[in-house]
Amino acid sequence: MYEENEYLPLSGIQHYAFCERQWGLIHIEQQWVENVLTAEGRLLHHRVDDPYFIETRGDVKTVRSVPLCSRTLGIYGIADVIELYKDDEVDNYSHYSIVEYKRGRPKTDDRDEVQLCAQAICLEEMLEIKLNYGYMYYDQIQHRKKVIFNENLRERVKFIAEQMHSLYDRGETPLPEKGKRCQNCSMKDICLPKLSKKNKVKGYMNELYKEMQKND
Ligand code: SF4
Repeated sequence: MYEENEYLPLSGIQHYAFCERQWGLIHIEQQWVENVLTAEGRLLHHRVDDPYFIETRGDVKTVRSVPLCSRTLGIYGIADVIELYKDDEVDNYSHYSIVEYKRGRPKTDDRDEVQLCAQAICLEEMLEIKLNYGYMYYDQIQHRKKVIFNENLRERVKFIAEQMHSLYDRGETPLPEKGKRCQNCSMKDICLPKLSKKNKVKGYMNELYKEMQKND
């Protein structure tokens, strides 16, 4: 269990799932560089970000920008949309669903699913309920994708949250690992992914060798 002063931003979960170093640069070193993709994402969230929005249509009540936190994960954040479905038997809105809005299309990695599941775990803790699934809405396909909160996904969320806290406490930003994902990364100019762990040592040794030759 974490204390409130130890909570980390929930948004970091998706950064960490995409790349540990990107998370470290943003959340430990407080560096942020916007590119077209992040700007589009921010504008999309701005459109759905309305903390006073509550709408009821038929048996569904929609609430936007809901604050969330989890003591077990030690994170806090905002859910884009929470939907409440009416249970006619008890005449109450007692079934919940969580919806996250994203720019573009479904990703090839699991960063969106991991973020949504982290939000769900927060809501479960806060309301003492169980959520079996939620939805990602992608603006390019204008369609919802159902995400099942199975044990594997929950375990991954817990693992990432633990890693984030451990690195954050040590103030340690992971080293770059160059990959395909770097092409669209907003941090690539700061990160210098070409200096991977291996290349960094090799480059350092080459420089050292050149310096020694100069001094001979
Ligand atoms: S450039 Fe690559 S290694 Fe660096 S933060 Fe981005 S994804 Fe990670």
